[in-house]
Amino acid sequence: MDEQRYSDLLKKVKSSVQKREEKKRFQIPKPEIITEGKLTIIKNFKDIVDVINRDESHIFKYLIKQFGLSGEISDGRLIFKGKPPEGGIDKAFQEYLRIYVQCYECGNYDTEIVREFRNEVIRCKACGAERPLFAHKEIKYSEEKIEEGKIYELEVTDLNRDGDGLSVKGDITVIIPGAKKGQKVTVKIDRIRKNYALGMMVKKA
Ligand SMILES: [Zn+2]
Repeated sequence: MDEQRYSDLLKKVKSSVQKREEKKRFQIPKPEIITEGKLTIIKNFKDIVDVINRDESHIFKYLIKQFGLSGEISDGRLIFKGKPPEGGIDKAFQEYLRIYVQCYECGNYDTEIVREFRNEVIRCKACGAERPLFAHKEIKYSEEKIEEGKIYELEVTDLNRDGDGLSVKGDITVIIPGAKKGQKVTVKIDRIRKNYALGMMVKKA
């Protein structure tokens, strides 16, 4: 093998390893769900908890509350006493990630909870953005989707680190520069990226 080919090959291997590592870093395992009699079990519950770096009892309580079931954690598995609706666990789990894990600025899941004064905030390890942890307790899952270029009436439920307004619409968090918390605003969606969008105010209600 000549030197040029060898060096090209090396580069190729290196970049594929890097890509794999990047992917791995942000990869959250999907819940592996099995049923045993009347029990529904997330087999890899502990693996998920370890990756997202959150308190297991917090996730546990959140999940069982969604379905009004009782349950327990045993051997790293989450056991529901009963049967959540088809697809319900995945949906609830995605919702949990969006509320308690995901960074609103860059969409990354590699975040940690830190205490600031008396508040707990979620800090993104990738971009450093912070947001309060308990701001979105009341948000219910919604099927609503938003589209670029369209106009929506939104309520600003929170602010990000830079003081921009935040509003959640369906799966998407809309960042609204200049909006104040509690304000109802009319925004035009400028662009959508991953799970967040930029909304420009067109009129204050
Ligand atoms: Zn971030």
